[in-house]
Amino acid sequence: MSSSTTLALLRVVLPVPLRREFDYLCPLPLPAPGCRVAVLFGNRSMTGLVLSHPTDSSIDFAKIKPITAVLDAEPILADGELKLLAWAAQYYLYATGEVYFQALPTLLRKGEAATYRSSSFWHLLDSEAQVPARAIKQQQALTLLRQGPLSAGELQVRGVSSATLNALAKKQLVEKRDQVPQPQDSRDIPWEISEQDKHRLTTEQALAVSVIQSALGFSPFLLEGITGSGKTEVYLQVMEAVLKAGLQVLVLVPEIGLTPQTISRFQQRFSLPICTLHSGMNERERLDAWLSCGDGSSAIVIGTRSALLTPFARLGLIIIDEEHDTSFKQQEGFRYHARDLALLRAHQLDIPIVLGSATPCFESLHNAAQGKYQLLTLSQRPGTATVAEHVLLDSKNVQMHAGLSPQLIELLGQELSKGNQVMLFLNRRGYAPALLCHGCGWIADCERCDAHFTWHQKPSRLHCHHCDHQRPLPPACPCCGSSQLMGTGLGTEQVEQALSGLFPQYGIIRIDRDNTRRKGSLEQHLEGIRNGQYQILIGTQMLAKGHHFPDVTLVAMLDADGALFASDFRATERFAQLYIQVAGRAGRASKPGRVILQTHQPDHALLQDLANQGYRHFAHSALQERQLANLPPFSFQALFRARATDARQVQTFLQQLVAQLQPHLPDTVLCLGPLSAQMERKAGEYRYQLLLQSGQRRELASACRLALAIIDKLASARKVRWSLDIDPVDL
Ligand code: ADP
Ligand code: ZN
Ligand code: ZN
Repeated sequence: MSSSTTLALLRVVLPVPLRREFDYLCPLPLPAPGCRVAVLFGNRSMTGLVLSHPTDSSIDFAKIKPITAVLDAEPILADGELKLLAWAAQYYLYATGEVYFQALPTLLRKGEAATYRSSSFWHLLDSEAQVPARAIKQQQALTLLRQGPLSAGELQVRGVSSATLNALAKKQLVEKRDQVPQPQDSRDIPWEISEQDKHRLTTEQALAVSVIQSALGFSPFLLEGITGSGKTEVYLQVMEAVLKAGLQVLVLVPEIGLTPQTISRFQQRFSLPICTLHSGMNERERLDAWLSCGDGSSAIVIGTRSALLTPFARLGLIIIDEEHDTSFKQQEGFRYHARDLALLRAHQLDIPIVLGSATPCFESLHNAAQGKYQLLTLSQRPGTATVAEHVLLDSKNVQMHAGLSPQLIELLGQELSKGNQVMLFLNRRGYAPALLCHGCGWIADCERCDAHFTWHQKPSRLHCHHCDHQRPLPPACPCCGSSQLMGTGLGTEQVEQALSGLFPQYGIIRIDRDNTRRKGSLEQHLEGIRNGQYQILIGTQMLAKGHHFPDVTLVAMLDADGALFASDFRATERFAQLYIQVAGRAGRASKPGRVILQTHQPDHALLQDLANQGYRHFAHSALQERQLANLPPFSFQALFRARATDARQVQTFLQQLVAQLQPHLPDTVLCLGPLSAQMERKAGEYRYQLLLQSGQRRELASACRLALAIIDKLASARKVRWSLDIDPVDL
């Protein structure tokens, strides 16, 4: 840059772990806020995002560096999105730039152009082109291309093969050219609604649809509907009006819920461009999808957590399905909750937002009770589908066979002989959760964690589920040399083995993280369940979520006891949600279903409540307990976590923090700790934490800001890895 160029100030954020912005100089005309620039940070070159054009800087002008390049002619994030991210950075007290960069697809973070991938388009070379009448395919292709160039993919969908196109190219009637596709506004596309798929709404559904449709501006709804009550039908009919108005709809689903089945339900109903956004997509696919939200060429966006941070041209409605699902909370780095940010975004855009679940989280129930959300209830299943019968099976003093009581085995046999499917849940994969020496009592422990190795048989190994460390099975006990090594406790592999011995005539499928790793394998298994290849289904909670199997009439949870005595105060809420989800798999179609829970605590109040009175009743009493204990949602929490390979360094850091923080805290902010994390040592690191809690958000936030200021000056902070989690969901 020559010295005669007029330079002005740019305030940018950079993807660095600092809670601040940076000033650079830039020649006029300045790139607008929301544009990317290339800069040097130290001597590293980086992509930055412009936030504003300040008139003054706290830094000496002579020391401010010029940017190296402007990367965007037009902003890639609009003002509204920038405001949302600014708010998020403030609320979560996280590194400013990293918050903004979370909203960008990886390719844009790397400085790639914000344009679609170029692809091959077929062009007509001669508009008068003719082919012999018998060449029907070629004629068809020419007719299509007379309306404009089309990509090979688009032509294929319309039944034109590449062989046909190549034949036409040989005659020099058409030509393939590489070009960047021009986005087409979804409002310019003629579309229709598949009326035949539309259900006649039940009274409850109709009420929900009409209440949501008549909402004006920002209005949050909590749609509490039992599994199979037709929440999706409500979403679809509410979406209809929004789409007809030319607005976009964002549907957020849990990580595990974005199956082809889910997407096809939306595709079937609306012949509009739908895009998906999830972690399984490659960088290029993500960028293209991201662009199609921002330029308005996608009308419906179905995505997981991070889709919420995507720019939209004209968002008119947000739907969060299974709003209680914990995958909406990011558990590392920028620990935001997509549900909470979605509410903020809906507020900012002044649009309705629908949170749907059979088992709403306590926060949402509390908000509904306080009148912040309007509660809509679907208490019945449409048509003949009945609600399952709940049975608590007492496992006390019962001789179990691989975790199955004789009574359960008999019930399974009865259902199977009637041609029905059965489903068994155990939230523990592997063969056994521990390997024990019968000779001396030695247990195979992970050296890097405070945890036992899980024994897997397929393939044979010891596997730590906390740090992923794996090792071969020892041939003998390393302590006493005995070869009598045995599993203790129960995993899904073992249940599978036992059932194939008990019911060899039926097809068995296990669904857990181990046998669904390969891309497409989960879908393949699910298809096998749907087409009746399998009658016995065994799985972890992966199997519980969102899948609809009409022939399942019996669902059993093999072990409920763990959740009843867990230390996390949210454990019972989670258990109840899982239980209801699992129960929702039984009797979804015309066949009545049964839900069986094996437990040593059949009289436990929580289980009784859930089985006999349902989730709402359970939640009501559990919320009262939370209120008495002053726990969220009746108070707010923030958690400082720290870890290092040296335990003393972690303790010193948190102790120093507490010592300096405590004297400045008002009585209304509780400071608990430092305490060791539930698993003190994980992957070779010692982990401790400090919990702050208050009834006032504002006071909690000031306490956190104060703590961060202290940490900035603590030398001990640089010897550990620490993080702050606002509204943590697991302690
Ligand atoms: P949810 O999302 O609440 O679990 P779904 O929307 O998946 O429930 O609906 C369950 C089943 O009921 C689906 O097969 C759906 O097509 C059907 N369904 C939904 N609404 C109606 C209705 N009003 N009449 C008949 N069937 C319906
Ligand atoms: Zn031994
Ligand atoms: Zn480990």
